[in-house]
Amino acid sequence: MKVRINRMRRALILSLLLCSVLAAVGRGVRAQPSPYTVLPGDTWVALAMRFDVEESELRRLNPHFNTSRQPTIGTAITLPENATERSGQLVRSGNESLLSTAIRRRQSPWAIAALNGLGSLYRPLFYRPLFVPGDGIIRDLPPGIESLELSTTSPEPGQALGIRGTTLGENATITALMDGLPVVMAGSGNRFVGIVGTGAFYPGGEPELIIQVDDQPAWSQPWAFTEREWDYQELTLTGEAAEIDQQARDDERARLRELWTHLTPVPQWTAPFNKPITDFLSVTANYGARRAYNGGPYLTYHEGIDFSAYAGTPVYAPAAGTVVLAERLYVRGGTVILDHGLGIYSGYYHLSAIHVTAGQTVQPGTILGEVGTTGLSTGNHLHWDILVNGTWVDPAAWQEQGIDCWLLEGLGTTCLPPTVTE
Ligand SMILES: [Zn+2]
Repeated sequence: MKVRINRMRRALILSLLLCSVLAAVGRGVRAQPSPYTVLPGDTWVALAMRFDVEESELRRLNPHFNTSRQPTIGTAITLPENATERSGQLVRSGNESLLSTAIRRRQSPWAIAALNGLGSLYRPLFYRPLFVPGDGIIRDLPPGIESLELSTTSPEPGQALGIRGTTLGENATITALMDGLPVVMAGSGNRFVGIVGTGAFYPGGEPELIIQVDDQPAWSQPWAFTEREWDYQELTLTGEAAEIDQQARDDERARLRELWTHLTPVPQWTAPFNKPITDFLSVTANYGARRAYNGGPYLTYHEGIDFSAYAGTPVYAPAAGTVVLAERLYVRGGTVILDHGLGIYSGYYHLSAIHVTAGQTVQPGTILGEVGTTGLSTGNHLHWDILVNGTWVDPAAWQEQGIDCWLLEGLGTTCLPPTVTE
């Protein structure tokens, strides 16, 4: 009996041992901490502050060849296993001292000094990041900005991308660049929105988003693009189509470029963009399709969407705007171009008839013209394009993303329900 108990005890001890070994293994597995997806304002210093870990430990867990860059928006980073989140605020003040920063936030300056290892209450902080306890998620936003959102964390080349948020003061001047491309900005009170167009040849990668409020220090964080598959089209031009008058072509483009880069600073649209054609046969060419002519290299891409349709099919305004061009052009044939504000233009080409005139304002559903095959065209179709600050973006992606409403909401404006076109 005693032997048996001993055996049982041994079995018990063994199983306990096994359990603790398993537990250790379990901990070992959990030592691979859960990945965290980086959002704007998640700089190294902000993440270290938020998860109460050393910045060096975070960087050791997430080695990157370029240590001067901040964590990339949209990518996953590893947090230490024991990381626990704390709430509060990361505050960066310029010429202010700790004393005035604390008083303005109704905090004890001595407590903040102790929390941040600061000796003097009176010296200017020069934008040094300070931890201030309180509610909220700790983020390192551009100085002068209270909140910041991006339209997507996984952008693709060919898309229009948006930023929006609020500033600490009213009527601040915000400048933003994405990889050198200027972001068109608009504001109302302390709200701001911005939009930038990436073309189908945009290289993607991890460009820097740079934001600056008034003359405060510029803020910068990389933004990760996802790759996109494109169509490839080899086109053979013969006869008349092959004998393109290059000068007429260049002149047309130069004239339109001047139109497209004019900025109407206020959005003209009030509802999500519709398709400009309801009665079409098929989409015959997508945006971004790489094009090679007569066996040459793929030097150009298709700048819009082609809808094949019968001649005379009505073409509608997809959203409110102002007609800035309504006439027959050499390449584009019967053309209507609409200005929707914020640097956003849409174009309708190869029309057989035009029903609007330059200067006229249109509403969603206004008939702009009729499908045709005028200009350099080989059959009845509508070519529809959308430009943002002079760059062609994908009209299909534009509709899927819902960036039109996202921007209006960012300005505190209601986005009306879509209009039904007959
Ligand atoms: Zn086309």
